[in-house]
Amino acid sequence: MNKTNSQPQKKRTLYTCIYALIIGLVILACAIIIATISTQRGKTNQEVGGSEDLVEVSGSSYVVPMFGATVCKDYSSTKLQFNNSLKQWEIHKAVDFLVGEDANVAAIHNGTVSKVYKNHLEGTVIVIAHSNGLESIYKSLSENVKVKVGDVVSAGQLIGTASDSMAEEQAMGAHLHLEIHLNGDPVDPNNYLSLGNK
Ligand SMILES: [Zn+2]
Repeated sequence: MNKTNSQPQKKRTLYTCIYALIIGLVILACAIIIATISTQRGKTNQEVGGSEDLVEVSGSSYVVPMFGATVCKDYSSTKLQFNNSLKQWEIHKAVDFLVGEDANVAAIHNGTVSKVYKNHLEGTVIVIAHSNGLESIYKSLSENVKVKVGDVVSAGQLIGTASDSMAEEQAMGAHLHLEIHLNGDPVDPNNYLSLGNK
């Protein structure tokens, strides 16, 4: 009598265990999929900026010039990249940071402002000369820049805000086009800034 009663009980327990196992596996699979998707998004749409991104290069400190921006076009000295504004392929020896209109732009390194100018193709531009043969060049800025030629600036200091003033890259919207030149030649900003996209 006892034996016949305990059989359905055992079966119920077995089914409960199987259901629990299946639910557990489904939850695990969902977690893996979500983790994979967020990792992929992180790779293609990397947020940059912030004091934690301070990088030491040969004893000098460099900071990412924008907070919470995404790198929308990276530096390459060899790969052709399509320019949606000019509708042509080009070599882009700069890094473009995509942000909202009027987002703050900071100096990447201590230096002296050597040029502030504006033209149709590049928009409003600030050039900062650094002590080690480096120049940082900030294009597509808003007109109301925060510095003038001769100003001494420190790494992380606010120098202006981003806009879509650069006709060459206007299709990108408000962004910062950052070039770094070493002894007059463009070099990869990724060598100086922790952009996390390489
Ligand atoms: Zn650019």
